[in-house]
Amino acid sequence: MGDPILGNQLFFCTMKRNTSQRAAIEQVICADDRPLSVKEILERGRASVKSLNQSTVYRNLKQLIDDGRLSQVRIPSLGVLYEKSGKTHHHHFYCRSCRRAFEVPGCALDSRRISAKGFNVEEHEIFLFGKCPSCAN
Ligand SMILES: [Zn+2]
Ligand SMILES: [Zn+2]
Repeated sequence: MGDPILGNQLFFCTMKRNTSQRAAIEQVICADDRPLSVKEILERGRASVKSLNQSTVYRNLKQLIDDGRLSQVRIPSLGVLYEKSGKTHHHHFYCRSCRRAFEVPGCALDSRRISAKGFNVEEHEIFLFGKCPSCAN
């Protein structure tokens, strides 16, 4: 097994593989570096723990958020997704064909320049919509 630390010490990717429900959920989130829906987490988690159900997933996700290890991403037309906490500022791409969300690294927006005079920008969100590489062909 390789070393799956993706430059994110806050997260749990260093955990030993085991079969607990919590570990299964954590492994799913570690395995794919893009925001995931509850449905995706449930489907993939069931590959290692068959007894996993939706309320268990919700309970564990809430716990991981409370622990500061997971963040919610709200994507218009897709709802709430979950991604690792502690990432640098980035945005998201939503594929309308396969209905998956992806991470767009970095940011080209100077929000102070586009905001109207007198408005003090504290944060911003950008969502890109279209087709991912596997759907574009
Ligand atoms: Zn796609
Ligand atoms: Zn940005």
